[in-house]
Amino acid sequence: MTIEEQLIEYAKEGKLLTHKCTECGYLHLSTAYYCLKCGSKGFEDTILDGVGSVATYTIITVAPAGFEKYTPYAFVVMKVDNTDLRISGFMPNIATPDDLPVGIKAKIAGFDERGILIEKQ
Ligand SMILES: [Zn+2]
Repeated sequence: MTIEEQLIEYAKEGKLLTHKCTECGYLHLSTAYYCLKCGSKGFEDTILDGVGSVATYTIITVAPAGFEKYTPYAFVVMKVDNTDLRISGFMPNIATPDDLPVGIKAKIAGFDERGILIEKQ
């Protein structure tokens, strides 16, 4: 399986595949090719619970072609608990900022054609 396929399989289980530097322990998203802290290319897979809090988001009311049926939704950036990592994904049924306070607890809820799905905890 490619890294992308592994990422998807873990996301379907609510997990996040990350790469931990074997030199300094710094955590990266699995798309990193070398350590952002020490430059090492040695990584080991580390599976985290896909839980965190909403850092920022954009509400999409006019969707790209093929995604109209999903509107309104939010494109969410979630800070992963106990890390510096941020992941982005889609949260359905968000129409106004009242629906989604920044800082609210969130989690990975799956993966489909939209990418990673995030929902409120
Ligand atoms: Zn490192």
